[in-house]
Amino acid sequence: MSQLEICLKQIEAIKGQFQADSASSKAQLSIKVVEDLRIKYLGRKGLVTSLMESLKTLSKEEKPAAGKVINELRQGVEAGLESLKVEADASALDASLSQYKLDISLPTQNLQGSLHPVTLMRRVMLTEFRKLGFTVYDGPEIDLDFYNFEALNFKEDHPARDMQDTFFVADRVATILRTHTSNIQIHAMMHEKAPMRVVAPGRTYRCDSDITHTPMFHQIEGFVVDKNISMGDMKGIVDRFLKQIFGQDLSIRLRPSFFPFVEPGAEFDLQCVKCRGAGCRICKATGWLEIGGLGMIHPNVFEKLGMDSEEYTGFAFGFGIDRIAMLRYGLADLRQLFEGDQQFLSQFPIQP
Ligand SMILES: [Zn+2]
Repeated sequence: MSQLEICLKQIEAIKGQFQADSASSKAQLSIKVVEDLRIKYLGRKGLVTSLMESLKTLSKEEKPAAGKVINELRQGVEAGLESLKVEADASALDASLSQYKLDISLPTQNLQGSLHPVTLMRRVMLTEFRKLGFTVYDGPEIDLDFYNFEALNFKEDHPARDMQDTFFVADRVATILRTHTSNIQIHAMMHEKAPMRVVAPGRTYRCDSDITHTPMFHQIEGFVVDKNISMGDMKGIVDRFLKQIFGQDLSIRLRPSFFPFVEPGAEFDLQCVKCRGAGCRICKATGWLEIGGLGMIHPNVFEKLGMDSEEYTGFAFGFGIDRIAMLRYGLADLRQLFEGDQQFLSQFPIQP
């Protein structure tokens, strides 16, 4: 038997051995098993690699033919190992999935999200105000004392300017977290020309925390500036808006009150949305619910901004979005709105 014949016989034997090894590996296929096979055949001292050594024993004429067959064997082994690896990867994935008992074919229960009740309420409100010709305005939550107090006719010694009621930004005495959305009246009036119909929703901040107060809460401010604006216009707008939200059968009433930036000023009540005015626990048997404050814009506010208070008049109103959301959705506790409880929040729809 020539050296070449011996070599070809060896190649044939290794080829057969690899086929047998691959077949038997399938019983316990793993990435490790495939790697062990690779080392056995293609490693530095592997069976296929060592065939190259035996090439040295062949004559110059015999080498090309033997080299070609060895190459074919190497390619065959590589392809075989690759397909074993694909199988091993798939079975490893199966194993890890069954270990965690995750049924990926089960449909999800709650694929659709929901909007936060405050967001829902704000959207409903803005839709109603847009119907009444109002423009939506935005303004800073961190603002200067000037916009939040001074230009709104708050006197230097007004209790609201006290450290106990207002969050001051550290080391900057004149910079605060706005205590109401009324600062937007000043920003808007400095940038726009009358006539104006503006609503401005947003977050506001006060040092307050109990069952009915949170340090952060949402307000919506509205104001109208034009010639010959009267209290009748004011009451008409607020009445129309609340009827759209809570129902046509409910009335509002005004009670005289004081806010520095309006004159005259009033608080406004809505007939109880629960008992429709008959008296119940929610309205403390009065039949009325306090909703917010309003009034005719104080002449000092116009004058401060260089507007002629003889020529222009206007009114402003403000109320809590959170409170309206509680009444509209029948919520018992204001704090529910800010606890981030998924079960509570998922009851609400994805759109108004
Ligand atoms: Zn009631």
